[in-house]
Amino acid sequence: MKILIHGAGREVGRSCIEVQSKDGEFLLDCGVKLSVGGMEYPTRTDTKNIDAVFISHAHLDHTGCLPLFDHQGLFCPVFATPMTKAITKILLLDSFEIEMAERHGDVAYKKRDVERIGESIITVSYNEWNKIHGIEWKFYDAGHIPGSSSVMIKTEGKTILYTGDINTEETLLMQRINDNYDEPIDILIIESTYGNRSHPERSKTEEEFLNLVEEKIKQGTVLLPCFAVGRAQEILLLLQRRKWNEKIYVDGMAREVTELLLSHPNTYKNPAGLRKAYNSAMQIRGSHDRDSIISRNEKAIFITTSGMLDGGPIVRYLENFCNNPNVSVILTGYQVRDSNGRMLVESKKIRLNRRTVDVKCFVKQFDFSAHAGMEGLHALIKKISPKTVIINHGDEAEAEDLGKFCAKMKIKTFVPKTGEVIEI
Ligand SMILES: [Zn+2]
Repeated sequence: MKILIHGAGREVGRSCIEVQSKDGEFLLDCGVKLSVGGMEYPTRTDTKNIDAVFISHAHLDHTGCLPLFDHQGLFCPVFATPMTKAITKILLLDSFEIEMAERHGDVAYKKRDVERIGESIITVSYNEWNKIHGIEWKFYDAGHIPGSSSVMIKTEGKTILYTGDINTEETLLMQRINDNYDEPIDILIIESTYGNRSHPERSKTEEEFLNLVEEKIKQGTVLLPCFAVGRAQEILLLLQRRKWNEKIYVDGMAREVTELLLSHPNTYKNPAGLRKAYNSAMQIRGSHDRDSIISRNEKAIFITTSGMLDGGPIVRYLENFCNNPNVSVILTGYQVRDSNGRMLVESKKIRLNRRTVDVKCFVKQFDFSAHAGMEGLHALIKKISPKTVIINHGDEAEAEDLGKFCAKMKIKTFVPKTGEVIEI
């Protein structure tokens, strides 16, 4: 059997791993890497001989290459949970529209590819064995975002677990990962986003965040860039803990995805709380609405996308507010290398309309991760105790350090680069 790392090898982004066995060629995720320089695709984009694609969750770094595959003639089934399918359809279309605008129509695939691949995803529930081309496979709840899964595959007498993105702790929105696997696992392919770092205690982070928003709103508008899926809803729920005299606005994909989640209340914790939080906030619908609110110059809290400042309505807010020292930009999540958000945190500059500009706003980043921290990853690896581990979805140092931990436990360990092939 071979495992081919087409992406996310010693990097975060373009997750795409191929399992090649006597039963066929199977892809685990099919993502893109979004960075300031543009979009990077997996090292395999030809679709010949692929027998099935399993999608762990809806984030673009796990799904964004699906339309390109469709364009190249992907005919095999693509499997995901119903929630992953629903969110993927929204995110792919949004990403296509952003790409079209940024590249003046020069995108490698068409809107019909985006629509066709979204519609064609076959939905499968958690915890049920399925069969295709001689392999057996099953999705487990990964606790990362609504619909997220780890994928278990049995082929050539071996059991493989691809974790996808996982959270081993519960959050205000999500239950923790379901790690009650009903098979011993031979080969574990595990994410390593926080492979060498612990998260601060969640409850402390939540209180610090609320205190800071309370302090900063006295001076001026507070911008809360959030990932559309999961984080925006978690921040909405969190803000409910305090009383606010100012309005809370929800904008862009944060609004769209929240509305989608409200119509699928069985895919996360506390749907009643989310409904209450959303109803008590104001919704911004479109650029006309947004511009008129911005022009009123009122002090308010804005929950909007994108979480790493690489597009979406947040760009419009920053265009207007970047020179205002009374405005605060409070980042609520991980900022990948080469993202606008990472640049803001490291140098107080961002790229706006192809120019690099200074940001005079107050800037602070909070660690509200939807990924397991180092202790969570260690505990999971110990619990599973696989024969072989393949580390992916982490920057160089994070992936390597998690690899060292596994090697110490006498597990056969690989920390492959993108493009590498592992023979099992
Ligand atoms: Zn993710």
